[in-house]
Amino acid sequence: MALQISALFSRVRVPLCTGPLSRVRANIQGAGVKFKHAVSAGRPLHQLTGTPATSPVRGHINAKFSTTTAAALWRSSQGNGSLSPRLRRGRLGKVTVGVAVGVSTVVLVQSLHTGALSAMALKVNLNSAEGDWKETKDFLLSLSVKDRRQYYRTSSSVPLDDIPVWTPTAGSTKRTFYPRNEKFDQRISVYSGDITKLEIDAIVNAANKTLLGGGGVDGAIHRAAGPMLQKECASLHGCETGEAKITCGYGLPAKYVIHTVGPIAQKGVGEVEKKALRSCYKNSLEVAAKNGARSVAFPCISTGIYGYPPEQAVHEALATVREYLDEHDDELDRVIFCVFLPADKELYLQNLPLYFPAEATVKSKL
Ligand code: ADP
Repeated sequence: MALQISALFSRVRVPLCTGPLSRVRANIQGAGVKFKHAVSAGRPLHQLTGTPATSPVRGHINAKFSTTTAAALWRSSQGNGSLSPRLRRGRLGKVTVGVAVGVSTVVLVQSLHTGALSAMALKVNLNSAEGDWKETKDFLLSLSVKDRRQYYRTSSSVPLDDIPVWTPTAGSTKRTFYPRNEKFDQRISVYSGDITKLEIDAIVNAANKTLLGGGGVDGAIHRAAGPMLQKECASLHGCETGEAKITCGYGLPAKYVIHTVGPIAQKGVGEVEKKALRSCYKNSLEVAAKNGARSVAFPCISTGIYGYPPEQAVHEALATVREYLDEHDDELDRVIFCVFLPADKELYLQNLPLYFPAEATVKSKL
């Protein structure tokens, strides 16, 4: 039996990718407050490259299509079909499409799910807070990395393959805290740059307890992901220090964002702060693994506005990741320490051989 589906009208705004705007922010230590302003204090200024929403160029196409044409349009909206110049122009703006399709019941039933996703695809607008975050999330998570690329709100993503693996070199340290495990030789990276650009399974956000966005890396992640991220975050009802909660990455190249709340250490570091920082790393890795995320990037949690001394934080981060990998060595393919400041990069490079040594002997322990 042939069914007619007519007047399936969808309005689409495909976000325009824009180049990064640079911003300057500084870590400000003071009274447990996360400042969001560009002020220099405490640690050195560093650059943020956010990806703000832009005003999309808009165009309109009104047309009727056969199933073949509809499929071609859908493929092209996924970025892998060939398009007429007119349709191609339409991809850069708001497209109004009327589709009249004749299909058999069997095909209709079989393709209901795909059809729903296709219709959904035409509605995704990651520059706007309008729309259902759950549907958007389901849709984005159903896509392959390649198909998801057209929804990134940045034009400069960094794929996992372009993130070099850190390899320990023999003789690089006289002492080690953990035994050698060659399985980990290809699992660790130290990446200098903006975490919001990484096209990996999950990036970790150093969030505050509200999960509604803040300064530092938190602000950068929310800006780059777009307003849907905050909508999903609002549904999580906050997060306690040391815990971790996961959301979709929305307009980010990362599929997921894992939000964790680091300890505030402006008054010094005691056992409570140490334990909380370790929990951030451990719980984030657990949440990642639970959601099938095999590549995870961490910023230097708590070492910015929250004031944890970076050289102490590095040890907690490395010890926790090493212990997690020891216990769950088949769960994760890559753990990336994403550093923003040259001093933090140095700290990781100096200390990594203690936790992931190239040689077999354990000569000392903290
Ligand atoms: P916290 O409140 O946990 O201290 P901050 O965001 O202030 O979090 O700082 C945590 C770390 O994140 C700092 O080392 C800071 O330099 C770094 N950072 C800030 N922006 C980014 C970014 N876009 N990508 C990666 N790291 C960042």
